[in-house]
Amino acid sequence: MSTTVAGGTALVQQRNLVTEIPGPKSQEKLARKKQYVADGVGTTLPVFVEAAGGGVLRDVDGNTLIDLGSGIAVTTVGNAAPQVVARVQEQVAAFTHTCFMVTPYDGYVDVAAALAELTPGDHAKKSALFNSGAEAVENAVKIARVATGRDAVVVFDHAYHGRTNLTMAMTAKNMPYKNGFGPFAGEIYRVPMSYPFRETEGIKGADAAARAIDQIEKQVGAENLACVVIEPILGEGGFVVPADGFLPALAAWCRDHGVLFVADEIQSGFCRTGDWFACNHEGVVPDLITTAKGIAGGLPLAAVTGRAEVMDAVHAGGLGGTYGGNPVVCAAALGAIAEMRDHDLPARARAIEATIRRRLDAIAADHPTIGDIRGRGAMMAIELVKPGTLEPDAARTSAVAAYCHAHGVVVLTCGTWGNVFRFLPPLSIGDDLLEEAFDVVAEAFAATA
Ligand SMILES: *Cc1c(COP(=O)(O)O)cnc(C)c1O
Repeated sequence: MSTTVAGGTALVQQRNLVTEIPGPKSQEKLARKKQYVADGVGTTLPVFVEAAGGGVLRDVDGNTLIDLGSGIAVTTVGNAAPQVVARVQEQVAAFTHTCFMVTPYDGYVDVAAALAELTPGDHAKKSALFNSGAEAVENAVKIARVATGRDAVVVFDHAYHGRTNLTMAMTAKNMPYKNGFGPFAGEIYRVPMSYPFRETEGIKGADAAARAIDQIEKQVGAENLACVVIEPILGEGGFVVPADGFLPALAAWCRDHGVLFVADEIQSGFCRTGDWFACNHEGVVPDLITTAKGIAGGLPLAAVTGRAEVMDAVHAGGLGGTYGGNPVVCAAALGAIAEMRDHDLPARARAIEATIRRRLDAIAADHPTIGDIRGRGAMMAIELVKPGTLEPDAARTSAVAAYCHAHGVVVLTCGTWGNVFRFLPPLSIGDDLLEEAFDVVAEAFAATA
C-alpha cells in the first residue's frame, strides 16, 4: 500500500469509509456552512476535507475518498505535490507580495518563460498573468480587440468561459451560470460546435467547421471579428472532442481573415489530455491561449500567452491587476511544472486514459444508457441517454453519482443536459486506486439499472 506526503501527514492511498457520507462531523460543519456561507455557493459532495494528496481526500470523520475530480481539473500534480509544497513554503517565508506592477520579481518572469516554451508553436511568445480563468479569458478578448481594432467575439454552443460579466456572455448554459445575472456584455456571437455524438453520422470536422464559418460570415462578417474563442475539448459543456479536422479548419480560416484564434485551455491544458495542451493533438497553433486550473497545483493562477506582437499591441499599463502572478502562486506553478516534467505527466495521462477506456468499455457493454465514451488522456467522459436514443438521462446520471459519492468516490457531472460524467483524476493517482474507483462506478451502474 503506497502512501504520499500531504501537508506533512502520510496519507494512506486507500478508500476507507468509517461513517456514512457525509459523516456526523461533516454534517455539523455543513450546518455551520449553511449559516455563514451564501447558498449560491454550491457543494457537490458535502464532506469537509482535512488532508488530500496522491489520489485521495481524507475527511474530518476519518473517511478516505478516491478523487476522480481533482477539484475540477486543478490538482493535476496532486493536492500536495512535494515540489509545489517546498517552493511555496520557501517563497511565502521570503515574501508574499510586492505587486509585479510595482516592483517585479523572478517567479513571474520564470512562469512566462515556461509558458513560452511549453505552449504550442515555436514563434516568439509573451504572457500576462492573472488570478482566475475567467480573468484570463476577459484579458484575451481585451488583447484581441486592441490588436485587431475589431469588436466581435465568436464563441460556440456548449461553451464555458467563466462567471464574470463578459465571460457569462461567452458561456452557453443559462442555469446555473447566467440565470438572472444579465444584462450581458455585447458583441458576443455563438455558432455551432462539432459534437460528433449528437450529429449526423459521418459528418466530417471540416464540414462542421464550414457550417460554423458560414454563420460567422453571414451573421458577423470577418471584418468585424476580433477573435474566435474555443475550448479545444469542451469542459463544462460535456468533454466533447470535436471531429478531426474541425479545429485546424477553423484556425486556418481565422489566419486567412486576420481573426485571432484563441484556445481556451483552462481545463484541457497542462498535461490533462495526454499532451501538454489539447491543441497539440491536431497540430493547431493558437494565436492566444488561456491557461489556469492545472497550472499551479491548486493555487490561483491564470495566464494569457500569445504571439509577442499581438500581446504587445496593448499600451503600457493596459494589462495587470493587484494580485496577478503573485510570487507564492508563481512558485507553486514552477513546482507544478517541475513535477509534470520530472514525472512525464503527459505519458501518465495517456496511461490513465487506457485504463479508464478499458473500464468504461466494459461497463458500457452491460449498460446501454452509456451512449458515448469520449475524451483524451485523464479528461474522459461518458454521456448517458435513454438506450438507443439521444434523449439525455440526467436522472440516471444523478443516481449513479449519488451511489459513487455514498461509496467514497468523488465524481463530477457536466454537460448542457447534466447527463455527462467527467472523469478527471489527479495524475498522481495510483493504478490500484484508479481500478478501485471504477469498480465502484461499475457497481453504481449495476445498482441503479
Ligand atoms: C473553469 C474554466 C474557466 C473559468 O475559470 P475560473 O478560474 O473558474 O474563472 C474558463 N474556461 C474554461 C474552459 C474552464 O474550464
